[in-house]
Amino acid sequence: MLIVGLGVRDANTQTPTVAPCRIGQQAPAIGFWTWAANAQVKVYVVSTDFKTPEIPYLLKALENWNSASDLTGSGVKFEYAGNTPQLLSCENCLTVRRGSVFDKANRHATELKAYSARHDQIISYASITIDPKLTNPKAILDAVAHELGHNFGLLDCYTCKKKSTLMNQFKVINVPNDMAVPTACDIAQVRQAYKELKVRVRPSPPNRNLIDEGEEPVDDDTPIVIPKP
Ligand SMILES: [Zn+2]
Repeated sequence: MLIVGLGVRDANTQTPTVAPCRIGQQAPAIGFWTWAANAQVKVYVVSTDFKTPEIPYLLKALENWNSASDLTGSGVKFEYAGNTPQLLSCENCLTVRRGSVFDKANRHATELKAYSARHDQIISYASITIDPKLTNPKAILDAVAHELGHNFGLLDCYTCKKKSTLMNQFKVINVPNDMAVPTACDIAQVRQAYKELKVRVRPSPPNRNLIDEGEEPVDDDTPIVIPKP
């Protein structure tokens, strides 16, 4: 179950206040790749890359984001479309496969790659690659849920408090962090990302690996330009 805007009553005013989602503390910054609003994303799995019992964990990560679709306002839904022998480049297609992607610097054992036909932040097709080092199915679930966060516009938040976001750093490879469901702050940020998409679309984001370890992307304060009708 998802609880949004944890209602905390202020003792003095008796007006409900919402638990804060401060960027860099409880909430990841936005500005990354995003599926188009209301996209029906077809998800293909290179099933020969995975052990049969691993597949339900991949699907669970998709389901967890599907359940948050209305709350985030993205309208994006993932639909499992079965097996593929290779990476697919069809519109709104996501391929999940195995490959050597482990990055010592940011301790990611998974990688999201996105492609935009329009050279902007809107994804045409994407892939999630899972390193063979990642064998614990729960750790796979957590890692895929994190990567899916990236394709809803969320950036990593290594300074965020534990359990506040899916976008935290993985401390130990192949050990679950028990974070597979978008948090209230993740939902709030994705909501913001899709609100912003209605007024402006950013250019394709730079390669995430260019962000130094520990360095948090700064809050983008570029003024929002509302295009003339
Ligand atoms: Zn990440």
